[in-house]
Amino acid sequence: MARYIDSVCRICRRENLKMYLKGERCYTDKCAIERRPYPPGQHGQGRAKFSEYGVQLREKQKVKRMYGLLESQFRTYYHRASAQKGKTGENLLQALELRLDNVVFRLGFSDTRNEARQLVRHGHVLVNGRRVNIPSFAVRPGITIEIREKSRKIVRISESLEAVDRRGVPPWLELDKKAFKGVVKAQPAREDLTMPIQEQLIVELYSK
Ligand code: SF4
Repeated sequence: MARYIDSVCRICRRENLKMYLKGERCYTDKCAIERRPYPPGQHGQGRAKFSEYGVQLREKQKVKRMYGLLESQFRTYYHRASAQKGKTGENLLQALELRLDNVVFRLGFSDTRNEARQLVRHGHVLVNGRRVNIPSFAVRPGITIEIREKSRKIVRISESLEAVDRRGVPPWLELDKKAFKGVVKAQPAREDLTMPIQEQLIVELYSK
């Protein structure tokens, strides 16, 4: 499957937002957006002026890349969200948050969503005691997510758990660090998402 293989720091610089895609490095002075706070490329330091469409497009690209999705996957999430009751933008963000790879990341078992996706794909994650290796698996309240016993020795996982306090676990999840286990307590609410996202712009873009 196609995937983004360029530098992830370029994504942050393009969107002018720290998206914490590199884990530990994002908290150091090596962070690319701290060093070069302008868009990447030859004309990066030129004057950027976006049309209404451009603003909407950038917002969609930002969220899509934050969750590490391809256009077709993102569009599918959008269509499902628009078919549900309630606000499409909020439905979309909620569905993205409830992806298994995102929950593994939010619980602190990995430093980044990319790493979380790899943990899931390689079978290190159990959902309600059963191995699930589908990163897009949609979790629901009441579900438990844990690291398989054999995999708890993986240094990257314990290091990430050590560092989770700095990032914080969102209120809709509960983490038992010692047991390498987490529970989904509730559906994520809009206010639980602290990243600056204007989901209405994405709805406007896809509604054209
Ligand atoms: Fe973004 Fe900085 Fe992390 Fe790179 S190091 S991914 S620019 S936050």
